[in-house]
Amino acid sequence: MTISEIFNKMDWGTAPENDKNAKAWLKENGNKFGHFINGNFIDAKNHFKTKNPANNQFLAKIAVGSKADVNLAVKSAATAQNKWAQIGGHARARYLYAIARLLQKHSRLFAVLETIDNGKPIRESRDIDIPLAIRHFYYHAGAAQLMDDNLPTYEPVGICGQIIPWNFPLLMLSWKIAPAIAMGNTVILKPAEYTSLTALLFAQICIEAGIPKGVINIVTGDGTTGSLITKHKSINKIAFTGSTEVGRKIRFETAGTGKSLTLELGGKSPYIVFDDADVDSAIEGLVDSIWFNQGQVCCAGSRLLIHETIANQFYKKLKLRMKRLRIGNPLDKSIDMGAIVDSKQLSLISRLVKENAHEGNLFQPDIEMPTKGSYYPPTLITEMEPSASLMQEEIFGPVLVSTTFRTPKEAIALANNSRYGLAASIWTENINLALDIAPKIECGVVWINSVNQFDAAAGFGGRRESGFGREGGAEGLLAYVKPKAKTAELKKQKRYKRSTTKANTLGSLDKTLKLYIGGKQVRPDSGYSKAVFGPKGFITHIGDGNRKDIRNAVEAAHKAGNWSKTSGHLKAQILYYLAENLDKRGSEFIDNIILSTGATKEAAKSEVETSISRLFYYAAWADKFDGAIHDVPIRGVTLAMNEPLGVVGVICPEENPLLGLVSLAAPLIAMGNTCVLIPSVSSPNIAANFYQVLETSDVPAGVLNIITGEEEAFVKTLSEHHDIAAIWYFGAGNNSGEIERFSTTSLKRTWVNNNKTRDWHSNGQGKEFLNNATDVKNIWIPYGE
Ligand code: NDP
Repeated sequence: MTISEIFNKMDWGTAPENDKNAKAWLKENGNKFGHFINGNFIDAKNHFKTKNPANNQFLAKIAVGSKADVNLAVKSAATAQNKWAQIGGHARARYLYAIARLLQKHSRLFAVLETIDNGKPIRESRDIDIPLAIRHFYYHAGAAQLMDDNLPTYEPVGICGQIIPWNFPLLMLSWKIAPAIAMGNTVILKPAEYTSLTALLFAQICIEAGIPKGVINIVTGDGTTGSLITKHKSINKIAFTGSTEVGRKIRFETAGTGKSLTLELGGKSPYIVFDDADVDSAIEGLVDSIWFNQGQVCCAGSRLLIHETIANQFYKKLKLRMKRLRIGNPLDKSIDMGAIVDSKQLSLISRLVKENAHEGNLFQPDIEMPTKGSYYPPTLITEMEPSASLMQEEIFGPVLVSTTFRTPKEAIALANNSRYGLAASIWTENINLALDIAPKIECGVVWINSVNQFDAAAGFGGRRESGFGREGGAEGLLAYVKPKAKTAELKKQKRYKRSTTKANTLGSLDKTLKLYIGGKQVRPDSGYSKAVFGPKGFITHIGDGNRKDIRNAVEAAHKAGNWSKTSGHLKAQILYYLAENLDKRGSEFIDNIILSTGATKEAAKSEVETSISRLFYYAAWADKFDGAIHDVPIRGVTLAMNEPLGVVGVICPEENPLLGLVSLAAPLIAMGNTCVLIPSVSSPNIAANFYQVLETSDVPAGVLNIITGEEEAFVKTLSEHHDIAAIWYFGAGNNSGEIERFSTTSLKRTWVNNNKTRDWHSNGQGKEFLNNATDVKNIWIPYGE
């Protein structure tokens, strides 16, 4: 036999990992587990079975969390929370460090257990999942240590309910638990039904690390248990990773409860290959993108967008590579793809492909497939229409769908043609092109000439129906803290009515103040206007806006989208100019505030002066709130860019009609957003005075649109509007819950007052506003050696 023949025939031998220790651990525990509550394992009434999807072998019985179990876990978390926060950052850092060390010590047991429970290749659990989970605890030990330095004005949120999926069981656990406990919160975590084992081994690590009782509680179970957690009245925060469908349910259920919420949901991430890409690297990247973890990855590059000129050559090479993928026993160290998590998930993938493969050209390589267990072959479907269902729906399996593009502009349009916005991968040897495309894709993570890179130092999370909030990095910590400011119940402002006294119009001619849309004063669509009264009687008439005016304003705000590309310097100049012009008309505003609200001269003067200073404040930030560079352990860096959200709907407070408006509009426009703003319902005339200032201050048309009218008329339209990216609510009615509920369909980001007061003078500015006005996009770029 010649050397060439040997090379041609040479096959990979098997290299099985021994699962003896994992099986012994299961046996030691009687192949049966209870919940981990208040530092102890407690038994449960009902159990379900978990099995190895690679061979259907029974592994263990897992407890089903009941209402009583969840109540007990919440009680123990509540009892532990204050003390855990009080022990300080350094003490917490030591506990997190101890967890990291112990995870490292038992890393192989974790890896094997993960693989037999989930079906993922041992190569992945050993080299990716477990090391990243450990890294999370190390990183967040540091975050705990530095909390007082980095977040001095914040405190823990309290008790966190955390619900995780089955695709990265221990990794998702670490993404949730590490930042939460680092920031002084206590947690109740529910692992996914299919994959609870590593969470239970983790619970034993917590005992070994001496984690104070009640700080970490793990309640196993199914969706019903999850729902008991999300609905629990005493839980302050819910962090969820999973399907968009369940994410929506949770958004709806938590609406109006005052719970803070972060959602990391599905995706259909574009994988864009330009004709000047290093094709071999891009093909290897695809293996790590869509066949990593059998494609059961929320950020999998499952939509291949390929430059038309190289498409045929690329597909040819890709198919060749697919023929070489090895599928089989996940414990075999030399296989590429393991088992799908469960036969139900396998049926779902099979059905989706079977019913929709006719939308394109299906390719499945003729490779050896295991005869037992849940396996699905690597699949490619080319020549798809952008609107084809498989181009739009998350399959959550090893199925890559593809189409071609001709120009970068078309690539961007195709990439953004999705209801999701989680991640994107860009392949080109042209750095200008890559960095031109990266900001234009609506998503939370971009990988340049790489894919599926993760690290504790870099934030992860999406936009649109991929959810909101970030996990990891400095930005991820914000999900687990709240500002220290004290608040009280918001009381209704005094509303002045016609009957109060006679008319007083500052001596000017009577005129109706219009709406302000697209830089123009326009009459309301309804053709109605309303009288505005102050303590001394009638002041003026004001346009009564309706949902059509909102739609026009949203359209105008989108047309002004280039504002997001305006330099920080220019935005600052315009904000300074606004301040200057407000200052010039200061005495007029003082008189109007007195007339409208009955404020003392001193209070009105202070409101105007603080508004001017606030405009200066955000002018100052406009070119300084510029993101960060995360130090990630790869040959590269991660740019954490603070991007504007887009069009933001704002309902202003009733009190402080000028200062409230300025405090909300200024940070938003300083960060490049455009706004549709509903001013104070009782003194909307102040906003009408303000748009006259806007008109003289070079604020481009459509950047700030002002619609006056009754708050109740706008809540639904603004919250449901699919072209509004986020909504801020500090209004007069008790509409926080309604806003959150109505935003369920579009899954927009919301920031609401929960009917609590805010002192707009002393607590109306700061990074809290800037953070809420931006989304962090993490862009991974090659850098250095
Ligand atoms: P789910 O969203 O149903 O489950 C995620 C987690 O939420 C699990 O722990 C689940 O429990 C729990 N859960 C289910 N229903 C509720 C509820 N009403 N209230 C609170 N918690 C609940 O995802 P699945 O695991 O069922 O997978 C379904 C699809 O979701 C997949 O095909 C895939 O498309 C997508 N998915 C997306 C993920 C992502 O990271 N983006 C991750 C996993 C799945 P239990 O395990 O018992 O059902």
